[in-house]
Amino acid sequence: MRKGFAFPFGMVLTLVFVAAGPVKAQLTPAQTDALGKLQSRANTDVCSAAEASSCAQAAAKLMPAILGDSPMIENLRKLTDEIGGRVSGTPEMAKAIQWGVAGFRAAGVDVHTEKYKLPVMWKEGATRLIITAPASAIAGGATLRVVSAGWAPGTTRQGIEANALDIGDGSDAEMTRAGNLKGAILLVHTEIGSSWADLFNEYMRPPGIIARALKEGAAAILWTGARERLLLYRHSNSLNGEVDKISQAVVAREDALRLARLVAANQGNQGKVRVKLTMPNEINGPVEQENVVGEIRGYEKPDEVVILGAHLDSWELGTGALDNGCNAALVIEAARAIKAMGVLPKRTIRFILFSGEEQGTIGSHEYVKAHAAELDKIRAVIVFDDGSGRTNGFSLGGRTDTDAPLRQILKPLETWNVGEHTPDASFGTDNFDFLLEGVPTFVANQELSNYLANYHAASDTFDKVDQRELKMNTVIAALTAWGIADRSEPIGKRQTRGELDAMVKQTGLDQQMQLLGYWEQWQSGARGRKP
Ligand SMILES: [Zn+2]
Repeated sequence: MRKGFAFPFGMVLTLVFVAAGPVKAQLTPAQTDALGKLQSRANTDVCSAAEASSCAQAAAKLMPAILGDSPMIENLRKLTDEIGGRVSGTPEMAKAIQWGVAGFRAAGVDVHTEKYKLPVMWKEGATRLIITAPASAIAGGATLRVVSAGWAPGTTRQGIEANALDIGDGSDAEMTRAGNLKGAILLVHTEIGSSWADLFNEYMRPPGIIARALKEGAAAILWTGARERLLLYRHSNSLNGEVDKISQAVVAREDALRLARLVAANQGNQGKVRVKLTMPNEINGPVEQENVVGEIRGYEKPDEVVILGAHLDSWELGTGALDNGCNAALVIEAARAIKAMGVLPKRTIRFILFSGEEQGTIGSHEYVKAHAAELDKIRAVIVFDDGSGRTNGFSLGGRTDTDAPLRQILKPLETWNVGEHTPDASFGTDNFDFLLEGVPTFVANQELSNYLANYHAASDTFDKVDQRELKMNTVIAALTAWGIADRSEPIGKRQTRGELDAMVKQTGLDQQMQLLGYWEQWQSGARGRKP
């Protein structure tokens, strides 16, 4: 999911547009140049200032292994085109788990899976939204294009028929202006998403609207699609793996806008606009799910661990290529390339494909719970979840102490401009529960590229992945994991509860957690480092 990130320090992402050329099995001139530079510097650049262990030497081996001919793109094609969309709890997800296990085996690294219970198994039925009155409104076509929101409760087979009520952008003022919400089907307007901040707001606005709709007894909520040209996508506003509290659907933008115009045109008329929403969603569960864990054991401190992770699950309207199949393939490829170096790191590196991410980072939360006794020795968690846009740097999870050592590690890639590290912290991907436990986390800051235009949508398919950028991101991921694992000192300490309380406040994570329903768990110590 990776719902974008807030930049409390007023940072702006610089967009550098890079044409996606055909991927060749050899290095581009820029890459050859970078490779030449770092080979000439071998033995001089180090993973940390105090030692001779060489990140440059690692980079010199990782680059040709990853940028050259590799199984990554074919792996990704199989995952997306042959397995397809993989919602947690479904047979497709089970196949994806097998894909992950096979990928790590082929890479030559040890692999196992770790099971947990996902609270609910959810599947969309034949969702329908039709206009039933007045007759004049139906003449232009009664059926609207719509999908159920993920993990939304279904309706009865007969559906819900009710007055359609336009509540504008869903602000308190607009909802008050709309009048009596009881029994109504609410239509919420949205802006077309075009930035990380827009995506962030797509998740931050609904909780308040849902809470008020519930309080005032609305029957269901229709979200205007935030992508153009009838593109449908699936959101979930339930972020704890449980079924949401009210039926919700996403209506194709053009159809939703037409419905809004009909409602406006019939205001005050005797015959209000009525719609019928039918969502026979299948809800079962709980269901067993698995995270896939590949591992290269360290030679000096095998009990200390660096995690490189990405979620393997996706929504299923498309095939989950940008979100997040490409980065699942990246994690396997990073493991392959590090293994192929033929040198072991000082610490253990775990390569984890999480499941249950789209339901609220359930898989990584379960991993943190299952490995609670080990958290003092988990030295870092690196996560990629922003598609295949160029990586500019890392989000450091509300801390600055890891910035300088990260720069030393990435020095061999200096010409790639991967140093825009940001001290922000956000919910939205699998680093979240590690972050709340005080573990240093690194989430790739990537250019938006085509991520949002295809986000969770039917159009999120293999052809959208920028293969060249994906390979370069894989070099960055592998070098970062290697460098943190192989430096003599940990990259950062585990933060205390006091430090985390300050971080949560300073980054605005407190407000996010309050809005999204995590706050009480955090306060009580049920989630995150105990007070
Ligand atoms: Zn994602």
